[in-house]
Parts: sequence; structure tokens; C-alpha cells
Amino acid sequence: MQIKKDHINFAVGPVLINEEILALGAEPVPYFRTPEFSALMLENERILKDLMDAPENARAVFLTGSGTASMDAVIQNVFTKDDKLLIVNGGGFGHRFCEIAEVYGIPHDEVIPEQGRTIRAEHLAPFAGKDYTAFVVNMDETSTGVLYDMDLISRFCRENGLMLVVDAISAFLSDEFSMKDMGADVVFTGSQKALAVPPGVSMMVLSQRAVDRINANKPTCYYLDLKAALKNQERGQTPWTPAVGILIQINARLNQIARDGLETERERIHAIANDFRARIKNYPFHIVSDSLSYCVTPLSPNNKAVDAHHLFEVLKDEYGIIVCPNGGELAHTVFRVGHIGHLTIEDNDALFAALDDLMRRGILLA
Ligand SMILES: *Cc1c(COP(=O)(O)O)cnc(C)c1O
Repeated sequence: MQIKKDHINFAVGPVLINEEILALGAEPVPYFRTPEFSALMLENERILKDLMDAPENARAVFLTGSGTASMDAVIQNVFTKDDKLLIVNGGGFGHRFCEIAEVYGIPHDEVIPEQGRTIRAEHLAPFAGKDYTAFVVNMDETSTGVLYDMDLISRFCRENGLMLVVDAISAFLSDEFSMKDMGADVVFTGSQKALAVPPGVSMMVLSQRAVDRINANKPTCYYLDLKAALKNQERGQTPWTPAVGILIQINARLNQIARDGLETERERIHAIANDFRARIKNYPFHIVSDSLSYCVTPLSPNNKAVDAHHLFEVLKDEYGIIVCPNGGELAHTVFRVGHIGHLTIEDNDALFAALDDLMRRGILLA
């Protein structure tokens, strides 16, 4: 089976990967119980903590698995049935946190904003002064492209003495944040989003408070036991065979970003997003989010006769361009254009040329 691999990829993961990182993927995968691999992993931890502006005594772990492995690991290792979580459920990824809490029997309530909308103070007010122990949020709800107001959330957590868990899987490198400023206890991301490495590794930074909880709790899953992950990472190792090749690519990417500067990386993504958003105004779409992340732009065709999923298919099959379809109830009305990965302004040009052609052909209607 051949899958076409030379699409211009505007998905939100896996994304386009730069040459240096691609080349590493073609190399042999080394044995990993060595001082050399340990040194690489300790460097990964140091740079990741630096990029997230981690608080003093924070620790990092690298899990083999997609981003959801971190969502799962955090809920079951940091919390118990004695906790009560407040989860923002504003789309597919918020909903996933609720399902995970359900699986492990961790009590939780949901803050539910309207579809495609951010949360405001009035959404949180009913939950103030209650018996919650932690707040759980996807900083960027990638399914709808909504970036939540982390200042508002962080203030709410401080005022109510809540721990704060931030899924920054798509926000990392796209949107500005500081783990210290947010007062966050856990922040995690994945390899295949803005870090632009193949999928396979999810990485997490934990505050001292989160580490203490993990060490006091009993693990409920053998493979995703964070106590074992933390213990092993002290010497730059993992309990089980990790995705060694991906971790080597992550090391190269983290070093690229450390060398060029986090600001430079973020500005590159912002420039692609801003260019796209300025030009899409001239096309028959509306943006369906009131608080946009720089990671992705959610679009809905103005003309009800235009099917969003059909546009995705035609762009893929006839123009070699991948945009990101939506699932569920938004499948036919919304698709998303990502701005992360090794994209250029010329790639945006190609997408707009395709949209021009779709209008000429009467497939995209005003
Ligand atoms: C992509 C994403 C996930 C899930 O990641 P997988 O790698 O598919 O498991 C979770 N949360 C957010 C906000 C994401 O963008």
C-alpha cells in the first residue's frame, strides 16, 4: 500500500518536518542503556523545562505514546478518588479528559463553554469556593481552535487553591505561556505538533507538588507509572524501551529551538498564521472561534451548500494539499488550517491558489 507523502500538510499533527530532523529519521537506531543516551535525555529535560519556563525543582518525563498518553498518565498518577477535578470540556480534547477521569473513577465536574467560544469569568463563578482540588484544561482546544484565557484560569486556581493541569499539546511553541506565571503543576505536549517531529513521544513537566503527589500515590497502570518514569529519568533513562529514534529527533529539534530562540520559533508560526488570516478574509469562509490560537484556524464555508469535508477531500486528492477535517457534528461545516510545522508563506500561496481554482470550478461557492 502506497500512501502519498508529498502533500503540503496544513494538519495539526503529524506536520511537515524540516530537513535536518528528517535526515535523522533515516539513521540507524542506537542501543539506549548507555551514558551517551542518558546524556541526551538529560539535555532533553533541561531544554524542555527551559522552554516551558518551569518552576524550581520541576522534573520532566518522556513517555512513549501520543499526547493522550500524557493526559491519561496525569489523571491516574497525580489524582485519586479523594480528588475532585474541574475539567474544561469545550470540544473533543476536553471531552477526552472527562472520559479518562471516568475510566479511573476520579470525581469531576465540567465547565462547558459554547462551541467555539472561550471561557469567561461567568463560566467559572459557579465553581468558586467549592471542594475542587484541581483544574484541568487544554490550553488550546485544538478541535475547535479556541485558545483559553490562561490568566483568568490561573487566577481562579490561585484564589481557590486548585492545582492546575495544562494540556499544552498544541499550544507549546504556538502560543506564549510560562509554567511559572500560570502557576501550573503539570504541563505537557507531544512530539508531532509544533515541535514537528514524528509522533510517538509525549513529554511532561511536573512541579514539585505534582511529583510529591505521584510519589505518594499508588500507580493504577503499570506501563504509564509516572513514579517509575521519574525515578528512571533521574539518570536520563526510561523504565521501558522508549521510541529511541524519536527522542533523538526531539533532541535535535530542542537544540534547534534553543539555538535560534523560542521567540524566533513562535514568531515564525505567528507569521504563517497572520499571513493566512489576512488573506482568508477575501474568501467565502468565516472563522468559527472568538479566541484564536496561533496553531490553527477553524473555518466554515459561508455558503451552506459547500460541504467542509468535501473540500478536504478535493484538496487532498486533486491539489496535494492536506487541511484538517473536523469530526462529529462539525464534520460537514468546519475544517481547520494548521500553521505549525515546517510551513512557508509559499505553502500558503499554494493553498490560496487551490481555493481560487475551486471557486473557478464552482466547488467553493460565495
Ligand atoms: C493533538 C492533541 C491531543 C491528542 O494528542 P494525540 O497525540 O493524538 O494523542 C490532545 N490535546 C490537544 C490539545 C491536542 O492538540
